Amino acid sequence: MKSSKKECYFAGAYTRLSQDDGDKAESDSIRNQKELIRNFQKSHSEIHIVEEYSDDGYSGVNFERPGFQKMITDIHEKKIDCIIVKDLSRFGRNYIETGKYIEQIFPALGVRFIAINDNYDSAEKRQPGDQIILPFKNLVNDAYSRDLSVKIRSNLNAKRQIGDYVGAFAPYGYKKAEDNKNQLTIDWPAAKVVRRIFQLRIEGKSNAVIADILNQEGIPCPYDYKRHSPDSRNFASGFHGNGEASWSFNAINRILTNEIYLGTMVQGKSTRPNYKIKKTVVIDQEKWIRVKNTHEAIISQRDFDIVQKLAGIDTRISTGEVYLFSGLVLCEKCGDTLIRRTVVRNHTRYTYYGCYDRKRTIKCKGVVIREDDLEQAVLTSIQKHIQTLLDIDKLLKHVDEMPLLKRETDALTELVASAKNELLRYQNLNESLYRDYLEGIVDQDEYLDLRNIYSTNEERLHKSIQELDRKKQQVLNKTSSYQRCIELFREFGNIQKLDRKTLVMLISHISVVSKKKIKICFTYQDEFDDMCYLIQKMKGEHEIWQG
Ligand SMILES: [Zn+2]
Repeated sequence: MKSSKKECYFAGAYTRLSQDDGDKAESDSIRNQKELIRNFQKSHSEIHIVEEYSDDGYSGVNFERPGFQKMITDIHEKKIDCIIVKDLSRFGRNYIETGKYIEQIFPALGVRFIAINDNYDSAEKRQPGDQIILPFKNLVNDAYSRDLSVKIRSNLNAKRQIGDYVGAFAPYGYKKAEDNKNQLTIDWPAAKVVRRIFQLRIEGKSNAVIADILNQEGIPCPYDYKRHSPDSRNFASGFHGNGEASWSFNAINRILTNEIYLGTMVQGKSTRPNYKIKKTVVIDQEKWIRVKNTHEAIISQRDFDIVQKLAGIDTRISTGEVYLFSGLVLCEKCGDTLIRRTVVRNHTRYTYYGCYDRKRTIKCKGVVIREDDLEQAVLTSIQKHIQTLLDIDKLLKHVDEMPLLKRETDALTELVASAKNELLRYQNLNESLYRDYLEGIVDQDEYLDLRNIYSTNEERLHKSIQELDRKKQQVLNKTSSYQRCIELFREFGNIQKLDRKTLVMLISHISVVSKKKIKICFTYQDEFDDMCYLIQKMKGEHEIWQG
């Protein structure tokens, strides 16, 4: 890799902004971008900004932008030999094309390329991994990965743990295996109750209503059940129940939020700071030790996710029964949940969702929609969305299972391997250095110096291996989340009528703009957007996926 800098560069400052790409107007404004570039130039006296190119209102998905094209012309006419952008996404969001410019075209033309916030400068010395990290950054930069980091962190954490159950008693729905007290197996009578509780919740029953139902049917609550189970020999002494003689809101809630039913071992939820302090401290959810697939699941991941989502929806309904759209319809203007109202006019009942306050006066004018209109619009949108996803699925299959992502993982695997080799080399060097020192071939100062250098390198490599593994996991997670998205909607391929469960499963929320306009955010909307974006790039066609 070249690391030689010239004494003087004639630079073009390139800026771009597009609402379509979801750019944040404030931080990404053209003015802010220009300012950032000028500030950068101040500390680089060898760079002279001779031209500024702007594309205001042009998407980064393609390069059909007047400012960009002018810049390329100027490069060919040797007016500039350096390009400065705020970050890669300003330059382009099409990562193959962007990579081609940065990795092939610019080096061939002798153009220095600088992406300030990505810390990328083609004139600087490069680390071995840079070529891949650059396009990778392009890939993740914008369209991807918001919730990934949390998942990955817990995944990695979990790998270090074995996942044996160490609790004194098996959680409700499970029992300890005959042959291994650290292993859980399903306790069917209780597991069926667990499943029923999840089902009732998905159908729209509140925790309190579910508790009532179970109590009326005389189903023993976990505390009673445990007391009569064969597992409970030490029960009286060891188990400090909550004194709940019957099903309660909290008992239901504990079951509905417990990941143990997914087959995931979750331990370490609380700890004692040290042995002197009796008080237990609740640990952040993220730090809980989770190990997946340690035992058989009772609840599917999907049902579990829906229930967690329902818990987040403010249904504002205390009677226990929910309406079709309860908690799912928001005001586009203020973001509040819309209120359902029924009025009788000329002996006919009309039901509306509108933005009202508690006194039933209008909060946001014009934000009101008839329930039957809403239902029809949502049904039609879902049908269209499913059709689009099925088309996407065909296309993805057609193009051989995401070659882009495959290329990324292959490249990352290779990088990990070479980093591991290098690490091994330093470890060997360190060992033979110690031998040389013992045999008097190097003196103490030399030994300490060299050992320091080798160890620093070892540390650096350890870190970069970890980082590369993390990135690879990100890419892998992405592919499987696309599949999850497609599979979910495929199941509803023939949907003709809406019900509560379908809505909760397929829709994140609905924003009402006016009586004629709604916006729908679907489940896995990010994945959907990503796939559309990927396909745009692969096909080079933009029309198909609009609308
Ligand atoms: Zn409002």
